[in-house]
Amino acid sequence: NTFHELGLNQDLLNAITDLGFNTPSEVQIKTIPVLLEQDTDLVALAQTGTGKTAAFGFPMLQKININSRSTQGLILSPTRELCMQITNELKLYGKYCNGLNVVAIYGGASITDQARDVKRGAQIIVATPGRMKDMINRNLVDISQIEYAVLDEADEMLNMGFYEDITDILSHTPKEKNTWLFSATMPQEVSTIAKKFMKQPVEVTV
Ligand code: AMP
Repeated sequence: NTFHELGLNQDLLNAITDLGFNTPSEVQIKTIPVLLEQDTDLVALAQTGTGKTAAFGFPMLQKININSRSTQGLILSPTRELCMQITNELKLYGKYCNGLNVVAIYGGASITDQARDVKRGAQIIVATPGRMKDMINRNLVDISQIEYAVLDEADEMLNMGFYEDITDILSHTPKEKNTWLFSATMPQEVSTIAKKFMKQPVEVTV
């Protein structure tokens, strides 16, 4: 298996070469072709360190319209550290996607600076639920054009008490979007969220 065989475009393949990734990981093999070929919801049981950021990041980078400045992808993640990490990874993966703007939104930093970054036109926002909700309430961000929503480390986000925030955030996104949920474990709360927000998700386990 090669990244080329997964259906990734040349801009992404060039970035992958620069990064020195030789072969796709299991979660990438099981996820990337499905997400590229189908407009589908997805539930993936995958731990950190399995390459899951690229598993949702590459398809999102390939599917969004970089010529548009509207926010098309939203990734919710439990902590500020993870948010920054995912943002950095996406910038590396998208280094040859000309005009790509990925913005991180998290608490404990200036909301004014983050609002300014968003306003410049971010095709992808990577956010913690609390700050995201805050920015929606203050009309500092528009997620009405979201096509792809990722719930990363869903079990962790729910453990941290973000259920209400996630529900509220998703209610501001279009019904027709695709939702991709990644979780290390599948407790009741995660299945509940999957049932509530997803339509016939493809299921992947690694
Ligand atoms: P993640 O599980 O997304 O946190 O990824 C763990 C680490 O593996 C990150 O530093 C990635 O840059 C790296 N990585 C992701 N996919 C691959 C791959 N196919 N080959 C080598 N390294 C990878």
